[in-house]
Amino acid sequence: MQKVDISVVIPVFNEQGNIENLCRRLLKTLDSTAKSYEVIFVDDGSRDETPALLQKLFRDRSDVLRIITFNGNYGQYVAILAGFEHVHGEVVVTLDADLQNPPEEIPRLLEKMDEGYDLVGGYRAKRKDNFFRTYASKVVNQIRYKATGIKMVDHGCMLRVYRRHIIDEVVKTRETSTFITALAQKFAGHPVDIAVSHDERIAGDSKYNLYKLIRITFDLLTGFSLLPLQIFTMFGMLISSLSSIYFFVELFKKVVTHHHGYGLHFAFVFLLLSVIILGIGLLGEYLGRAYFAVCGHPSFVIRDILEKK
Ligand code: UDP
Ligand code: MG
Repeated sequence: MQKVDISVVIPVFNEQGNIENLCRRLLKTLDSTAKSYEVIFVDDGSRDETPALLQKLFRDRSDVLRIITFNGNYGQYVAILAGFEHVHGEVVVTLDADLQNPPEEIPRLLEKMDEGYDLVGGYRAKRKDNFFRTYASKVVNQIRYKATGIKMVDHGCMLRVYRRHIIDEVVKTRETSTFITALAQKFAGHPVDIAVSHDERIAGDSKYNLYKLIRITFDLLTGFSLLPLQIFTMFGMLISSLSSIYFFVELFKKVVTHHHGYGLHFAFVFLLLSVIILGIGLLGEYLGRAYFAVCGHPSFVIRDILEKK
C-alpha cells in the first residue's frame, strides 16, 4: 500500500449504533480536505454487530478503509497502538468511534498543524459527559501535570493530530498501558492544544466504569513517574518520626507516672499495618510493570487484517 497524507486511527468496541454514521461523516470530511487518506478501524473484540458492519463498510470502500480485528478485548489504548503500528500516513489522526469527537473538526486541527506544530491536541471545551466524569477528569489532568510535568490540557480527549515521527516513537516504546496521549506529548517538539466540540454519545454506553477510570489514573501515574513511590517514602518517614516521639512519650509516662492502658497502642499498630499494606500495593504496581516488560508478552493478538493488497 502506498503512502498517504493522512491516516485516521479509530478504536472500536461494541459501537454498532455509531459506526456507519461515523464512517459516512468521516469520509465526507476527509474528502473535503483534498488530501489522500486511509482510515484504520481497530475492532477491539466487539461482541455486537460491529464486526459485520465493519466488513460491510470495507467491501464498499476498500480503497480507503483498513480493518484490524483483535481476537479479544484489550482496551482502547492497545487498539490505538495496534493502529499506529500499521499507519502509512504522514499525519496521523485519532478519534473515538462514538461520535463524541465530531469528525468535522479534523480539518481545523490539520490547518493548525500547517502553522508549524507537530502535534495538535484537542481539548473538550464544553464536555458532554456527566458532572462526575467531567470533574474527575479535570482533577486527574491536574494530578498528571503535577506528577509528570507533561503539559497538555486534556489527555483524555482522543481527537488529536500527530506528525508521523511522533507516532514512530510511540510505537517504538511498545507502551500500551494508558495515556498514549501523554506519551506522544512527551515526544512532540512543538505541540499545541485547541478547543474542540464534544457531543453526547449518540448510541451505546460508555465503556468506562469507575473501576476502569481509577485503573487508568494509576497506570498514568506509575507509568510516567515515581512520585507515588516517593510520596509513600516521605509518608513512611513522617510516620516513623511521629511514632518515635510517641514511643518516648509513652516511655516517659510509664517510667515517671506509671500510667496504664492499651487502646492507643492498638490504634497505632493498625495505622502502621495500613501503611505497610499500602506500600506493598504500590510496590506491586511497579513490579507488575517490570514483570510484563521482562516477560515480553505480546500486548495484543491480531486475528485478521482487511486491506487492499
Ligand atoms: N473502546 C475500545 N475498547 C474498549 C473500550 C472503548 O476500543 O475496551 C473505544 C470505544 O469504542 C470508543 C473509545 O474507545 O471509540 C472511547 O470509549 P468510550 O466512548 O466508551 O469512552 P468515554 O467517551 O466514556 O471516555
Ligand atoms: Mg465516548
